[in-house]
Amino acid sequence: VNVDVKLGVNKFRVDEENPHIVVVKNPDMSELKKLINACPAGLYKLTDEGTLQFDYAGCLECGTCRVLCGNTLLEKWEYPQGTLGVEYRYG
Ligand code: SF4
Repeated sequence: VNVDVKLGVNKFRVDEENPHIVVVKNPDMSELKKLINACPAGLYKLTDEGTLQFDYAGCLECGTCRVLCGNTLLEKWEYPQGTLGVEYRYG
């Protein structure tokens, strides 16, 4: 079973109003590449125009982006509030 299938069993309750991760405006590209390569959910992407497309909705709350670029690229990194966010399912 591949990773996408495994990730597909997780459920997300997305806080639509309050992103729990916010990326700085005009992020440094070489730093950004680290996140693009490292996020296990593939949430950091470049558009055809070369700008960042980031969707916090599928976040696994693994903290990788925070460890790598928390001080340089992320304006905010918090766990989603209450019962919002990822709900892991195993199987
Ligand atoms: Fe991706 Fe993990 Fe950062 Fe969420 S916490 S955006 S899954 S690297």
